[in-house]
Amino acid sequence: MSTSTHLPAVTVLGLGPMGRSLAGAFLKAGLRTTVWNRTPGKDRELIEQGAAGAGSAEEAVAAGDLVVVCVVNYDAVDALLRPEPVTCALKGRTVVNLTADTPHRARKAAEWAAGHGIRYLDGAIMTPAPSIGTPEAVFLHSGPRGLYEEYRPVLEALGGKHMHLGEEIGRAAAFDIALLDLFWTAMAGYAHAVAIARAEGVTAGELAPFAQGIGAILPPLFAEFARDADDGTYSGAINPLTSAASTMAHVVEVSEAHGVDAGVMRAVEGMARRTIGLGHGTDGFIRVAEVLGRR
Ligand code: NDP
Repeated sequence: MSTSTHLPAVTVLGLGPMGRSLAGAFLKAGLRTTVWNRTPGKDRELIEQGAAGAGSAEEAVAAGDLVVVCVVNYDAVDALLRPEPVTCALKGRTVVNLTADTPHRARKAAEWAAGHGIRYLDGAIMTPAPSIGTPEAVFLHSGPRGLYEEYRPVLEALGGKHMHLGEEIGRAAAFDIALLDLFWTAMAGYAHAVAIARAEGVTAGELAPFAQGIGAILPPLFAEFARDADDGTYSGAINPLTSAASTMAHVVEVSEAHGVDAGVMRAVEGMARRTIGLGHGTDGFIRVAEVLGRR
């Protein structure tokens, strides 16, 4: 494989499933790539594919113009980057932190980087490790626009779609958290639906095409509810909260009749009933977001 000399050399710190995919995509795109991981041995396949291994994190940092960090959370990022030899090696370099954590931690990391002469971009990956290097990958970025533009060609070597969401460093993590909230609560709903269906003698496979149908209803609803939420209009003309809460109660009843924990749906019904109790029974479901946001 030929090495791309017109693009800066990259270093990838952290070789879990995601870090390995990132490094593999850089290599496939022909970038000079150095890799390092806390636990040795995870760099073997990448080295076979042409990556340079490093004896320490500081040695790895010194080999790259751009340092991509992707570990489990920001405690791990701190453990990796804050020892003095690593911090010194990072001075004047650019870090793109693709580790998932909270917006607050992203802001703290940026403050620390600025205090040590390190250029810093924060990011979040919205798609699974196997998507990296393919058109399906989705990356969110935030931080100084000029720095992002400077390294965009390198980041685009990872394939997929890259979106810069703003200069405020916490923006990528803020989107990530909101979308993780959506993903995991939706997955909890799906797991619960499968449990109830099974209790009623319906297999997950039988339910799947109908579950996909429910999934397909959601994207236009998100667009409509986003307009309602941003405008402060919560029309319940098609499905008022009182009607929605009644169907939620049916789910709780069937669950509990089968001895299936109904905690998730009880929480949803509780939110709906509280919103109705505050006088919004004729509004649509998204009024719940406004009530949840009240302090
Ligand atoms: P993990 O989230 O399990 O992270 C594993 C990596 O973190 C390993 O390199 C591990 O090193 C390192 N690590 C953990 N603790 C420390 C520490 N104290 N000091 C140094 N390194 C540490 O695996 P992934 O690679 O999958 O995920 C990395 C990031 O990517 C996470 O933030 C995740 O949320 C995000 N992500 C992952 C996706 C996926 O499909 N996997 C999808 C989207 C985002 P060691 O090998 O030594 O334990």
